[in-house]
Amino acid sequence: MSIKKVGKKISGAGKAAIKASGDLVQLTKLNSAIKSEENKVESLMVEIGNVVYDKYKERNEAEPDVFVSCEAIKKCMDKIEDLKLKIIEVKDMKKCPGCGEEVDKDNTFCPKCGTKLAD
Ligand SMILES: [Zn+2]
Repeated sequence: MSIKKVGKKISGAGKAAIKASGDLVQLTKLNSAIKSEENKVESLMVEIGNVVYDKYKERNEAEPDVFVSCEAIKKCMDKIEDLKLKIIEVKDMKKCPGCGEEVDKDNTFCPKCGTKLAD
């Protein structure tokens, strides 16, 4: 191979490398733009879900195809509430019936809202 040809070959490979890295930058930008749009879609979906669930909660109303999901969410919410109460018990605290604040078991009144606490 002549020196001239070797030079050509290297510059050819160099160009390919530059093109490849340019493509990589472009692909990264495109993928990140897709990710950004997907994130927007995701949060809008959550927003729709919250609207649907709030309506279900307030009026026990939902489209038939999402009613079962609403009921399942309600079950999860109830379970979360139970688990939170268990945490309060484990921490030897109680929950204020007035404002929901976690208060010391020995308190007679809620320090946040003043509600009288049951023993
Ligand atoms: Zn309170």
